[in-house]
Amino acid sequence: MSEFELIEQYFFAQQPAVPHIALGIGDDCALLAARSGMQLAISSDMLVEGRHFFAGADPELLGHKALAVNLSDLAAMGAEPRGLTLALALPHAEAAWLQGFSRGLFALANQFDCTLIGGDTTRGPLNICITVIGEVPVGQALRRDAARVGDDLWVSGSLGDARLALAGCLQPGLLPDDAQQRAAQRLHKPTPRVVLGLALRSIAHAAIDLSDGLLGDLAHILQRSQVGACLWCDAVPVGAILATQAQALQYHYALAGGDDYELCFTASAASRQAVLDAAAAAATPVTRIGCIEAAPGLRIVDQHHTERHFAFKSFDHFDV
Ligand code: ADP
Ligand code: MG
Repeated sequence: MSEFELIEQYFFAQQPAVPHIALGIGDDCALLAARSGMQLAISSDMLVEGRHFFAGADPELLGHKALAVNLSDLAAMGAEPRGLTLALALPHAEAAWLQGFSRGLFALANQFDCTLIGGDTTRGPLNICITVIGEVPVGQALRRDAARVGDDLWVSGSLGDARLALAGCLQPGLLPDDAQQRAAQRLHKPTPRVVLGLALRSIAHAAIDLSDGLLGDLAHILQRSQVGACLWCDAVPVGAILATQAQALQYHYALAGGDDYELCFTASAASRQAVLDAAAAAATPVTRIGCIEAAPGLRIVDQHHTERHFAFKSFDHFDV
């Protein structure tokens, strides 16, 4: 199979025609019709074999996750997905792998009307880099620098099960098989909170998606917004499987686990009901986990109002 046959068969042929894509795959660039009053939101995320996933990983799950982590960034800006590009390095053109990968990718892309508009394909160690393009009305993006003193701090869904699944992969037998399988869904098949992100436009102030762990990701909001926060560690919603584990492990994986792809966001206390209504409309649970304060830094308090200090840190590729 040639490079062009591969692109044609597995990527180009699967694309429906979409009005806002003036020109899709096949030319030197794709052309998008820009809508007035809108800003483009653009983000890239790369998945590298041996770093983000194990060799031999299920290609269908990889197709899903490679796009999901990108859509999660659009969700965190309150942007609506429009298109994506796919840069793919493959050791060899293997039909079964490409079929599985494109099935996983397109299942999620179609769910959000996100059209594949181009990319690049080369031989090399397995590496998947997706760029997503979304749209958000001018001035309505949920930026990291927009938290205000007095805001409530919220998180969607639950945290820590993906990190627990990773521990279970590295240490077989840690969890019973069925628990490992359920936790692994969170690790391999994250749900990007796109619908919630859109519902929170003009309600939330700042937002970020949780890829590296709550403590580290929340710190980005605090730094960019030049504020501090109080985090109620016992209010943080712990994943259902993690909730069966020891308390110390729950704190560790829920607060600093990574790979959750939930949204952490702030909104004024006056918007509390509006947040709950938006979450209900998006069919996504949200939990209030603290508040934004003027004093810089993050203070963590437990249910007994005791300040807690944890030794663990969020994930960092270059600090391990
Ligand atoms: P060029 O050499 O001009 O960069 P390519 O030969 O790399 O073009 O690609 C031909 C067309 O196929 C382009 O429109 C490109 O965007 C698209 N394409 C290449 N690889 C992929 C891919 N993995 N997924 C989607 N489109 C792709
Ligand atoms: Mg190219």
